Amino acid sequence: MDIRGKERRRLVQEEVRAVVEEMRTCKAVGMKQQGAWTRWENAVERKVTWADLWKAESHRIQFLIQAVYDVLPSPSNLHTWDKAESSACPLCSKRGTLEHILSSCARALGEGRYRWRHDQVLKTIAEAVSAGVEWAKRSRPSKQTIAFVRAGEQPTPAKRTSAGILTSARAWQLLVDLEGQLKFPNHIAATTLRPDIVLVSESTKQVQVVLEMTVPWEDSLEEDFERKLSKYAGLVSNCQQAGWRARCLPVQVGCRGFVARSSVRAFRILGIEGERKRRAIRSTTDVAERASRWLWLKRGEPWSHK
Ligand SMILES: [Zn+2]
Repeated sequence: MDIRGKERRRLVQEEVRAVVEEMRTCKAVGMKQQGAWTRWENAVERKVTWADLWKAESHRIQFLIQAVYDVLPSPSNLHTWDKAESSACPLCSKRGTLEHILSSCARALGEGRYRWRHDQVLKTIAEAVSAGVEWAKRSRPSKQTIAFVRAGEQPTPAKRTSAGILTSARAWQLLVDLEGQLKFPNHIAATTLRPDIVLVSESTKQVQVVLEMTVPWEDSLEEDFERKLSKYAGLVSNCQQAGWRARCLPVQVGCRGFVARSSVRAFRILGIEGERKRRAIRSTTDVAERASRWLWLKRGEPWSHK
């Protein structure tokens, strides 16, 4: 089932009301009501598979809103509500807030839980970029316009169109760092860094470094953006010194599925515009949100994804 537009807005509003109502009832009714909620939560955990989750739109919206309001029964919330003895994360002994579970648990990190979500999002971004490359190939004018230059004159540089980077070359090589496979082409620059996506056009000597960031928490988007840009600044400048047109394009997605301005910008610069951009952003948002929900549902269980 696919819910869009009006229907989705209606569900969101309904869910906001339900959450507010729930918070009110929790205070009034206390233990019993809260107990029902956590039992429901367990029932979902038993039933749901990763494939099922893609279809469970209303659960998804419920998760999203509860995540935003931070009213999910995290260990720390349960403790605050007097429903649990301990506020500890089920994986480590630290305080189990939602932020901790979704983004900063060292054991979850070590087990590859965040890497798994990162790869889900990366795959989606790579698909959008790949579709953009194909589109650009088709829509590129088949004949090159020939600029005549008089002897002794400098050719005027080609006017930059708003068509984006992808239409500026016929063939792009798309490298994606899934399962740690990416090696930065060392004829361009030597580096130990492993960006998420590298787009190379040998004929026009361009290299675009696209970075996917499933950022910890929507609050730290900006900080994360700057950290990544400065980490890759050296590589970009090494490429430029070697005669390549190089650029770093961070694409940020918050772990509750909020796409940052950086992503919109990156898609625009690449030339993924209009409906294709909207589709790319929607699928990126979807996958980040669903993967976070999966991490939430599996918070106390052994991790089996690779
Ligand atoms: Zn933990």
